[in-house]
Amino acid sequence: MLNPKELKLFKVLSELNAISGQENQVAAYLLKTYESLGFKTQTDHLGSVFAFKKSKVLNAKKVLILGHMDEVGFMVSHIQANGMIKIVPIGGINNLVLTSQRMHLTTRTGKVFLGAIDTTPPHLLKDVQQGIPTVESVFVDFGFTHKEEALKQGVKPGDMVTYATDFAVLQGGTRILGKAFDNRYSLVMGLSILEALKNKELPYDLYVGASVQEEVGLRGATTSSTMIAPDLAIILDCSPARDSSGDVSEQGQLGGGLLLRYIDASMIARPTLLAWQEQMAKAAKVPFQFYSSPGGTDAGAVHKNLAGIMTLTHCIVARSIHSSQTILDTRDFDASKKTLLMMLKNLNTSLLENLAKADHNG
Ligand SMILES: [Zn+2]
Repeated sequence: MLNPKELKLFKVLSELNAISGQENQVAAYLLKTYESLGFKTQTDHLGSVFAFKKSKVLNAKKVLILGHMDEVGFMVSHIQANGMIKIVPIGGINNLVLTSQRMHLTTRTGKVFLGAIDTTPPHLLKDVQQGIPTVESVFVDFGFTHKEEALKQGVKPGDMVTYATDFAVLQGGTRILGKAFDNRYSLVMGLSILEALKNKELPYDLYVGASVQEEVGLRGATTSSTMIAPDLAIILDCSPARDSSGDVSEQGQLGGGLLLRYIDASMIARPTLLAWQEQMAKAAKVPFQFYSSPGGTDAGAVHKNLAGIMTLTHCIVARSIHSSQTILDTRDFDASKKTLLMMLKNLNTSLLENLAKADHNG
């Protein structure tokens, strides 16, 4: 279950807009909140942001908790003479979600316009079969009556276009609905961890933060893990659930707990790290599930950066990610948080050295 602070953070952070390369709203919110919790902050030159706390231990090792702050969305490509807006995709867009959506357009100066994706009514389709739209084929209507009106409002190619989705708590209070839980999950988790550990002396330097441009190729993960050069990186992300049909044999059950992600397209988990994660989930007495994915996370870039960084993913699932309406189970958040806190409370120099050694020996 989420506490009231976490619930508010899910609402605020999921309703902020941040396509890859234009994450400034979310970055500013995070930096302000990190500082209000009493942490020092650091940024890389692409825009990734971190809170950190140095240990009193001499030559302390570094632990990084990282999740991406960007979301999939669109950019303005053309403003038509009639005021309609053409868009291009940023990140992996599901074309089935491209009809009748309420959208926001955010200009360079931060002006926000509400609109909708234009959709042909059935009686005008006549004999033409309704095809699946593409991002390039749709028109987005923000109420501009002609091109000059849009230009006068400061609209330019490259401006951000995102789904206009209000956050909601669903009946019973266990599940929440909103956009961009992939990966605002990681930002809420990061802030919860900082809140829990802010007054605790740790035997390692702790870095908690958010990368930019994951959805277009793990770019901020590369620059920020180079900057921090951690001894251990724990990557938080929100992966697709595959349980909607009711098939319990599918991996990725909503409400099934923390993911032990043993392989995806970008990284094979280190057996010792996966075993440690399982041991900690058991110690925390929370549900967990094994998971594989044809996708990837920031771990893909981090684990092969520098001379190789010891990296583990720490993910949960949500239904309908990369769409305008995503559903997440707060019990999964709870399982993830309890396990992560257990891991961070157990970590010290010798455990980090043993975890690093074990795979070389084994
Ligand atoms: Zn993600």
